[in-house]
Amino acid sequence: MAEHSGTNGVGILAASLRRHLQRRQRAGIHILPREQSAGIEVSFGPNEDLAGFDLAAPSTPSFKAKTLEELRAEIGDCRLCKLCSGRTHLVFGVGHPSARLMFVGEGPGRDEDLQGEPFVGRAGQLLTDIITKGIGLKREDVYIANVVKCRPPENRNPEPDEVAACEPFLKKQIDLVRPEIIVALGKFAVQTLLQSKAPISKLRGNWHRYHGIKLMPTFHPAYLLRNPADKKLVWEDIKKVIKELRGENA
Ligand code: SF4
Repeated sequence: MAEHSGTNGVGILAASLRRHLQRRQRAGIHILPREQSAGIEVSFGPNEDLAGFDLAAPSTPSFKAKTLEELRAEIGDCRLCKLCSGRTHLVFGVGHPSARLMFVGEGPGRDEDLQGEPFVGRAGQLLTDIITKGIGLKREDVYIANVVKCRPPENRNPEPDEVAACEPFLKKQIDLVRPEIIVALGKFAVQTLLQSKAPISKLRGNWHRYHGIKLMPTFHPAYLLRNPADKKLVWEDIKKVIKELRGENA
């Protein structure tokens, strides 16, 4: 989550993504949210397997919310864990309410806490490049959220009690958006959603399932800022996501 300096190789992924997008644009390929993708070759249908299935049920206090706006209102000025004391903004999530693709990160950093929006700092710019230049979507076509909604002090890792307190909100967000694919960014998102203690380096690059939703674990963009050599691994993972969105793995 913490964003550190170190720009060596930062352009490698962006350049690779740009070339890929240019090829896709030449081919006329676009990947859109569900209701916009009708009739377009890359669409695959709504996640009907999930209809009526409360994804959040196993660990979630009962929410009345039927929309993301209602859920945000229910969360209100949440004080369920100690992260409430240091926040400027509670960073709920942003994006298309019925996005086909959802990104889940760890928690807000400094920029996110100040602006109240996830992934807006340097790591956020890298994620935006992946979405726009790599996948060919706009940020507003996907949904982006974090495991914890309030910034841990000094960008430390969220603690188990904080994750436990906040994860029901994320699970209800997933339940409301019902994406077809989740990209889980980094250890905390992956371990929270998959309930696994396996390291991200072992889990990434392979498809997993979260309540029937295809889930691709990959490295967090903030990690990539510190370890730019691993951008090629993330690009491999994202290419699998693109293929899945285009229905090429069916
Ligand atoms: S991190 Fe989550 S559980 Fe903790 S105070 Fe913020 S919204 Fe509430």
